[in-house]
Amino acid sequence: MTAAINLVADIGEVLVSEAEIAAKVADLGARIGADHGDRPLTLVSVLKGSLPFMADLMRAIPIPVRIDLMEVSSYGGTSTESSGLVRILKDLSASIEGEDVLIVEDIIDTGLTLNYLLRYLRGKKPRSLRICTLLDKPARRLVDIPVDYVGFTIPDQFVVGYGLDYGEFYRNLRFVGVLRPEVYSSPPE
Ligand code: 5GP
Repeated sequence: MTAAINLVADIGEVLVSEAEIAAKVADLGARIGADHGDRPLTLVSVLKGSLPFMADLMRAIPIPVRIDLMEVSSYGGTSTESSGLVRILKDLSASIEGEDVLIVEDIIDTGLTLNYLLRYLRGKKPRSLRICTLLDKPARRLVDIPVDYVGFTIPDQFVVGYGLDYGEFYRNLRFVGVLRPEVYSSPPE
């Protein structure tokens, strides 16, 4: 796959531009700050896809925040389909008991991954647990998840960029786009 990658030419359509992302991140950060007053907030982000969103969002929130990172991998699915079976590769590094926690996600598709994560984090007894996602793909939702902050609601298309990958590539694109179908027809090795 590596030799065939052409970051920009592989994108058929830009779904959310760099400028649209920047404006939305500023808006979300201001809203999150206003909703939490002067109570400190712990942002929990899920690697790797949420990395650029987390980095930008934390700097747009005007109140004290702590951050923590988890890494999960879903298994049993394909490169474009989630299975809902989740393995924790990296756990929180500090207790969130009694804290106001905001999960920072890149995308919610079926909701299976986040559903698992929600149950896991609730078990750690935070004071509150909210969710912020940059992208929401409601068409394929299998579990009902209360999402507090949504950046963009997008159609049922597999997207890459701004953290989101296909075969671990395309994460460094500054925008969110749809891959050309030809890229899927030669699946990643
Ligand atoms: P869910 O469990 O909600 O179906 O999916 C969660 C994970 O699947 C996301 O965190 C993301 O890693 C991956 N995913 C779902 N939809 C997309 C998509 O359109 N593009 C990419 N690159 N990953 C996706």
